[in-house]
Amino acid sequence: MAKKYVYFFGDGKADGNAKMKNLLGGKGANIAEMTNLGIPVPPGFTITTEVCTLYYKNNRRYPMELKAQVDKAMARVEKIMGKRFGDPERPLLVSVRSGARSSMPGMMETVLNIGLTTKTIPGMIKMTKNPRFVYDAYRRLLMMYSDVVMEKAAGIESEDGHGIREKLEHEMDRVKKEKGYKNDTELTVDDLKYLCERFKEIIKTTLKKDFPDDPQEQLWGGIGAVFQSWMGKRAVAYRRIEGIPEDWGTAVNVQAMVFGNTGDNSATGVAFTRNPATGEDVFYGEWLPNAQGEDVVAGIRTPNPVNKAGKTDDTKHLPSLEEIMPDVYKQLFKIQKRLETHYRDMQDIEFTIEDGRLWMLQTRVGKRNGQAAIRMAVEMAKSGLIKKEQAIMRVKPNQIDELLHPSVDPAEEKKAPMLAKGLPAGPGGATGKVVFTADDAETWSKKGEKVILVRTETSPEDVHGMHAAEAILTAKGGMTSHAALVARGWGKCCIVGCSDLDINLKKREINVNGRVLKEGDWITLNGTTGRVYEGKLKLLPADPEHNKWYKELMKWADKFRRLKVRTNADTPHDSTIAKQYGAEGIGLCRTEHMFFGPDRIKAVREMILSDTTEERRKALAKLLPMQREDFKGIFRAMNGLPVTIRLLDPPLHEFLPHTDTELHELADEMGVPFERLDAKNKSLHEFNPMLGHRGCRLGVTYPEIYEMQVQAIMEATCELKKDRVKVIPEIMIPLVGHVNEFKKMKEIVVKVAEDVQKNYRIKVPYTVGTMIELPRACVTSDEIAEVADFYSFGTNDLTQTVYGLSRDDAGRFLPFYVENGILKDDPFITIDIEGVGALMRIAVEKGRKIKKNLKVGICGEHGGEPKSVEFCHSIGLDYVSCSPFRVPIARFSAAQAAIKEKAKKKK
Ligand code: PEP
Ligand code: MG
Repeated sequence: MAKKYVYFFGDGKADGNAKMKNLLGGKGANIAEMTNLGIPVPPGFTITTEVCTLYYKNNRRYPMELKAQVDKAMARVEKIMGKRFGDPERPLLVSVRSGARSSMPGMMETVLNIGLTTKTIPGMIKMTKNPRFVYDAYRRLLMMYSDVVMEKAAGIESEDGHGIREKLEHEMDRVKKEKGYKNDTELTVDDLKYLCERFKEIIKTTLKKDFPDDPQEQLWGGIGAVFQSWMGKRAVAYRRIEGIPEDWGTAVNVQAMVFGNTGDNSATGVAFTRNPATGEDVFYGEWLPNAQGEDVVAGIRTPNPVNKAGKTDDTKHLPSLEEIMPDVYKQLFKIQKRLETHYRDMQDIEFTIEDGRLWMLQTRVGKRNGQAAIRMAVEMAKSGLIKKEQAIMRVKPNQIDELLHPSVDPAEEKKAPMLAKGLPAGPGGATGKVVFTADDAETWSKKGEKVILVRTETSPEDVHGMHAAEAILTAKGGMTSHAALVARGWGKCCIVGCSDLDINLKKREINVNGRVLKEGDWITLNGTTGRVYEGKLKLLPADPEHNKWYKELMKWADKFRRLKVRTNADTPHDSTIAKQYGAEGIGLCRTEHMFFGPDRIKAVREMILSDTTEERRKALAKLLPMQREDFKGIFRAMNGLPVTIRLLDPPLHEFLPHTDTELHELADEMGVPFERLDAKNKSLHEFNPMLGHRGCRLGVTYPEIYEMQVQAIMEATCELKKDRVKVIPEIMIPLVGHVNEFKKMKEIVVKVAEDVQKNYRIKVPYTVGTMIELPRACVTSDEIAEVADFYSFGTNDLTQTVYGLSRDDAGRFLPFYVENGILKDDPFITIDIEGVGALMRIAVEKGRKIKKNLKVGICGEHGGEPKSVEFCHSIGLDYVSCSPFRVPIARFSAAQAAIKEKAKKKK
């Protein structure tokens, strides 16, 4: 039997179902599922993603069997609709849409009204008795087809603002202006007829080709364009950002057209089964009477709320579907409930009402921001729709992160005069400099500027700039516009439909009710309310502690996870924040940060530049009480939780004076000649300091430094014990490569620790462990484990040394590697599992062979990155440690890792 490339759906029966996403794409699979559920869906067929892959494999040629299968499916659609494709009497029109496995909002192509030709137009007019509607449909076809098929798919690159679509829009605006119309709906039949002819001329002169007047040519042009668009610039860019593999391909859905713009009894809309911005369990959506789907999504007209519950102060005067067409609304309401229960998740649905008859065009899992994702997951689990595990798996770690994002300080906001107001599409606050193009957003942000991308509306071509910007602000568009969807997916602050903005792209300025803002001016957005302010308002850190759904979800997550989560902190303040975020100890206290304080740096420099041990000890004695107080502060903040303190690690020159003036001052203070100090300073120069005199090598050569630090740690511990504060210090030696280095350092630590306890006449518990951050330490871990009490992976240095890649210089070329697919991820962000990970595995296995219960953690930057946390779970680490703000993400990722592992074992 010939291979099946075309899957039919219609009249209550479909060849496919929701499980076939890989083959039919998300949209095709869900349309099939809806059809099988008996929900009214216009009939059609899906050409599989496999065809897309074959098309590219075979030099952009379709499999031979495809044409016959398409013809057969089309015949079935014709039968159900009682119309025929290309028939002059009763013509069937179809839409052609893309549908990838995972939704790529606005990324892919759609062409509507395919099948309208000079031969079928009279038949359509006869059928609908509405010539205006028919010519309007024709002008839409001309616009979309010339743009998508004849220009983009043909690989014609037009300058920004000079594409065929803009040219046609420009012509339409010209006619509207000439006639004094405000809205498209005011265009008469004759205007539209004239416009269609003009459009055809412009297409011919611009693209040097006639618009095809043959339905089959239109159909195959549309299908080809969808496949082409898979390799289009914007789809490729989106895939890269979202990590979607190229070989997934897209499906093509061909579906009978139903029209929301045949008159006042018709309408179209987009809705969500729950509010996608807050997560509240209310049916939420937008609709437009007498309109086609693209009108709602493109934000050309500002849509109305679908029901009374969705009205806000700004939309309360607008008519809802619930009020205007109560029966259809009731039917729609039932269907959306059914879909949500069936899919057990919030759905994003598209519908069209043609002459009072409701058609469902699409259902898919709705994008949502972090706040909404968390609330929905928790409420769905509580109502029994899903399990707690599912609730946890459904929220992405970066959505947890979103909740931890800043908001505009209400006190400052109260005082600030509002510049404009739009629709709150992505919550949280953001402040940045105005830029007008996606490219500028990217370039400025690369230079370290915080920018806000301001556009009339965004299009998929803008995604790179939207990604780079702190926030997005658009003059047009509704809550379901491109900007809103994309921003929501990323959890980015975003305001759309801010109609007071008059953007002049050429002059690079915005006129807002007479006020002029220029490129580079600061603005602040409150994405939760849709308010825009001039200037740079203060942002407040996030306040997840007052979010009951978040707290509940995190409570569940903590029950599921096995990994403990600690924090990297070196001040009492950071330690306190981290503890509030759920840190269960400190995994890395970098003591060098304590040496930079203005009250200490001089003593540190004195210590480094001293020539004799005596001089060094003198300087260290000045530091001792300060270090002791530092540790006491941290120990108190952690109140009994374990604290891992790392002894001095960085190359000494990092602390040295950089100018002669500073050196002179220091020479005076130390009472030594400037020349001597200068020579010493120069002698400390290293060619490759990161691989030079640092880590335990400092302790080996200058044991007095480590002695002082251990003394401070132990004295702090003993003194606090007297105050009845429980302290568990874990003393950690950095950059150990050979077991003998560790042995030597441990001797020093134990000697000082014992002396201090004797002096204080008390016993306190303490342990001595090591960072594992050199390849040699990993492979000789069986030797080190004999003497070390614990390990902590320093994956920053381990990555640097495994890859032979300087962590300070990699930024110059590593992004290029990732952009060009040489590396999937930046190894300094996500653990390189095959390389660095393999060594970590060896270290754990060898270490635990010697000490079965050897405690092993990680304190490199990777400790707060979800994929790396999953890996750490999988190799049996005891804990991950990360910066305070990433603690909740790490807790959550650890729970997801545990749930995933359980599910895998079950299989
Ligand atoms: C590491 O190398 O991973 C680490 C935590 O230490 P640092 O970043 O301070 O070198
Ligand atoms: Mg390190």
